Amino acid sequence: MKDFVTNAYTLRVTPSRDFDKTAHLFTEDFGRIEARVVSGRKPLSKFSPHLEPMRRVTVRLAQRKGFTITDVLSEKPSLYIKNNNDLWSHALKSFSLIHFLTPKEMKDDSLWNILENMNETGIINPKEVLSCLGYNIHHALCDVCGSQFIVGFNFYSHEFLCLACAEKFSESRIVIL
Ligand SMILES: [Zn+2]
Repeated sequence: MKDFVTNAYTLRVTPSRDFDKTAHLFTEDFGRIEARVVSGRKPLSKFSPHLEPMRRVTVRLAQRKGFTITDVLSEKPSLYIKNNNDLWSHALKSFSLIHFLTPKEMKDDSLWNILENMNETGIINPKEVLSCLGYNIHHALCDVCGSQFIVGFNFYSHEFLCLACAEKFSESRIVIL
């Protein structure tokens, strides 16, 4: 079994079988990974409080079949983001895009730098995240009707959308840019 230590941002945490949870992390060294949090749903799980979305953490991971978190240290959440609705909304959208659009286990220094910059300044721009992932909104047209007035991005179909077309999809599939 191999042991790794890496910095990461928590994208989200989802329940998995038994009392475990899965932490979806964007790591400095491996890009996006899914890591098991053993007994993460028990009230006294010592790791859970550290794994709030958007928080910067340092994790120790054991790798056998997939990753398991064996230790985690978190930094205080960025106050800039928590206290500002616009920054909070931009960060939420950016984290959704990273969660849905990044390939698993592929290191991405540019994206990592965007997250580090967010941690220092509170500022992250979902359009910049999209462009870093290869979807450039400049000169993009609505992928459904060809309109040049783009308002959103469908992260299931990877399509840019105008307002009229965005309204035809469930909100849970769209990020408004
Ligand atoms: Zn359209």
